[in-house]
Amino acid sequence: MISFEIPPFIQNQQQLLKMVAEQAMRPYSRQLDEHEHERPQAFFQMTWPFVQQMMGQTVKGLEKRLSQNGSGSKARTGPDYSILGMIMMIEQLSWGDAGQYLGLPHPMLGGAAVQSAGTPEQQIRFLKKFSEGDPKWGAMAITEAGAGSDNSSMRTTAVLDPETNEWILNGEKIFITNGKLALEESDGLCVVWATVDPEAGRAGIKSFVVEGHTPGVTIAKQEHKLGIRASDTVSLHFDDARIPFGNMLGTLDKKAASRTRGFKGAMKTFDASRPAVAASAMGVARAALEFTQEKLADEGIVVDYTKSLHELTAVERDLMEMEARRKGAWLLTLRATAQMAHGESNRLEASMCKYRAGEAVTWITQKAVELLGPMGYSREWLAEKWMRDAKINDIYEGTRQINQLIIARAILGYTRRELK
Ligand SMILES: Cc1cc2nc3c(=O)[nH]c(=O)nc-3n(C[C@H](O)[C@H](O)[C@H](O)COP(=O)(O)OP(=O)(O)OC[C@H]3O[C@@H](n4cnc5c(N)ncnc54)[C@H](O)[C@@H]3O)c2cc1C
Repeated sequence: MISFEIPPFIQNQQQLLKMVAEQAMRPYSRQLDEHEHERPQAFFQMTWPFVQQMMGQTVKGLEKRLSQNGSGSKARTGPDYSILGMIMMIEQLSWGDAGQYLGLPHPMLGGAAVQSAGTPEQQIRFLKKFSEGDPKWGAMAITEAGAGSDNSSMRTTAVLDPETNEWILNGEKIFITNGKLALEESDGLCVVWATVDPEAGRAGIKSFVVEGHTPGVTIAKQEHKLGIRASDTVSLHFDDARIPFGNMLGTLDKKAASRTRGFKGAMKTFDASRPAVAASAMGVARAALEFTQEKLADEGIVVDYTKSLHELTAVERDLMEMEARRKGAWLLTLRATAQMAHGESNRLEASMCKYRAGEAVTWITQKAVELLGPMGYSREWLAEKWMRDAKINDIYEGTRQINQLIIARAILGYTRRELK
């Protein structure tokens, strides 16, 4: 049975995050949109102590489990509410500003990859960085030119130097969120997916933790984007970048190196990251919906839910449709989250919520611009920005079409080869 009760600690957290969103994010939304590569300093300062504390607790939990059962795996004592807390945090901060939320000093996708593919020792080692010192960022680099949706054809290589016991990375990754913040502007980390055997396809792909300021890593390009312009998106160039053997996620045993989770680790990362993207989309959708409702209410237009269908005006029906699409996608997101929190597989539901949330937020924000009239299109209000911010949710972490394929394959029982 699904319970919709939110534990008190998450309710308290949400109140605090609402304040952050209202006071440290929204007032800077327009400025950071206009000046794309400026950094949201107020947001960094306000959130870093909170993130440090959160990551400190995560590391303590990992250390305790490792000392208790030697494997770091979680005893099944009930749902892990921290996962729900994370999803609700993402929704609330994205309500504040989705681009700024992506720049949260936090392990982000890099952390999700470490937790999906790393050994307990690696998880502790890499996540600990985020519980101490100066603000840090995490990133994950899979996409290459010509290897986006079909990332099994990636060309970035990792070769082991037996003399120094280091991996040598060569190649280029494109459109990497937080790449500059993680690798150039802080002592953060980026999980880079590379092949140890280009002939082996998916089987050759492994993940490697590249830490901030590693020689041989350069920022090749900073993107200028349609939306989420407060976020950092770059191309990364790896030119004989050397990283320790133990930074390959999954094992520290050389002989077993070929048996690490590899590509499956990437897929497992998506199980966690797709509900996170859906939650971010839902924050933007709620921002647009609430703003539209407020502005229309000022004009005396408020939905009367007691009216019968044939008495509703076209605007009222649009508002109801916006609400319904947001709620439907949010419920799917919570379902995928609940499965994660209970330690169940959520692969199908993660794709379903990502697909639906991307579709809902692009539709809702366009409707907001439409219903608000010319002011919806004006830069004086944020509606047009939310419309631009929305579209990314159809693109990263698997495009709308790719998630549709995953859903269709799962429901119809087709393999990857049979339905492409
Ligand atoms: C702002 C931004 C941030 C990003 N951040 C990151 C990041 O942090 N890390 C990272 O690794 N990547 C990141 N990406 C890259 C993103 O994940 C890819 O752009 C995405 O996976 C699509 O890959 P592609 O661009 O190569 O498009 P392609 O794969 O070339 O797809 C182009 C179009 O064809 C469609 N298509 C492809 N294959 C099929 C098919 N079989 N059936 C139907 N349609 C299909 C796609 O849906 C899409 O519409 C980011 C991208 C952007 C824009």
